[in-house]
Amino acid sequence: MHHFSYKEDDLYCEDVEVKKISDEVGTPFFLYSHATLIRHFEAFDHAFAEVPHIVSYSVKANSNLAVLRLFSQLGGGADIVSGGELFRAIKAGVDPGKIVYSGVGKREDEMEYALKEDILMFNVESHQELERLNCVAGKMGKKARVALRVNPDVDPKTHPYISTGLKQNKFGIPVREALNEYHFAASLENIQIVGVDCHIGSQLTQVQPFIDALKKVKALILELREEGIDIKYLDLGGGLGITYDEEAPPHPTEYGKAIIEEAKELDLTLVFEPGRVIVGNAGILVSKVLYTKRGEEKNFIIADAAMNDLARPSLYGSYQKVVPVRKNKEPMIVSDVVGPICESGDFLAKDRELPPFKQGDLLAVMSAGAYGFTMSSNYNSRVRAAEVMVKGDSFEVIRDRETFKDLVNGERIPDFL
Ligand SMILES: *Cc1c(COP(=O)(O)O)cnc(C)c1O
Repeated sequence: MHHFSYKEDDLYCEDVEVKKISDEVGTPFFLYSHATLIRHFEAFDHAFAEVPHIVSYSVKANSNLAVLRLFSQLGGGADIVSGGELFRAIKAGVDPGKIVYSGVGKREDEMEYALKEDILMFNVESHQELERLNCVAGKMGKKARVALRVNPDVDPKTHPYISTGLKQNKFGIPVREALNEYHFAASLENIQIVGVDCHIGSQLTQVQPFIDALKKVKALILELREEGIDIKYLDLGGGLGITYDEEAPPHPTEYGKAIIEEAKELDLTLVFEPGRVIVGNAGILVSKVLYTKRGEEKNFIIADAAMNDLARPSLYGSYQKVVPVRKNKEPMIVSDVVGPICESGDFLAKDRELPPFKQGDLLAVMSAGAYGFTMSSNYNSRVRAAEVMVKGDSFEVIRDRETFKDLVNGERIPDFL
């Protein structure tokens, strides 16, 4: 459930007319609902109310400082994958004791930064990373708390680009080698083992793959305990899917029930790294129609938002629902919604039954709160869109639209030119 709905014929976000924001801010812009963000965070958090747990929100899904601040106020932590994300989380006020650091390619300076901030744990993804982390922590006279990210070889049944828990994926340590790697970790002076981690993919629409993965890591935890290696945290990653079109993913409550059932005998603190399920349907992308035209085979709606603003359709062929900001009653026509970028892959929607948009009309691309702004770029030297948050009957710009000056920031023409 989200807070984007029509009153009469006009699209609203909570109690604010989307058109009104467009009039003041210009287009394109990402628009987030404060009430939806809270609702989705709490739905997830409450699903695990009966067990000790930490919701470490996955920063890469939507890393705006205002969004991070809101979740930290609700008691959330952060799942980060870079020094830059750590910087954002700290700046937003996230408790470092609830920050977990994932990713296959952590650099030394990033490790140092995270050790300095005293984050909860590093989710270590390889033997070499473990060695390097031990070395970095040693130089700083610290002990790094770690979980090993285990690759359980489970098929998440999602898009191949966002599957991470199959043996052919680059992520984690094969579950069969994990026991050895834990023994190695235990032998390292500046490493403190605190957890086991796995994250099998994104946009999962079934509970079963999560449970399959959990069964494998559970067996590992029991083995580790038998061998005297204590585990305090079980990090089950993120990945719960949302409805973009007709998908029917489990509600967090259902997901929670199944996981608690399987994990409760382990008696440890569960850590989650949800991203999309919390922010995905809490945001939309609003764009203006620049032109419409009829090709020989197709109708095109040319919008002022493009693949640089929202990459998912062109990157994964993903479906994102497109709706008019003001409804009209004319018959639908089949159209492509495309952007101004000089690539045929630049589209937001293909072969869609849509109302006949006219020049100057506003359209909304739904479910754009996750992997929207964070995946945006300046390709074609397009300034990145503004971000806006609505709360009740008011709204605030939470990131200014970039300017041309921002585009060349840091660039230099050398003296020899
Ligand atoms: C991307 C990612 C997440 C979040 O995934 P969602 O599908 O958005 O919930 C969580 N953990 C890790 C390690 C990730 O890479």
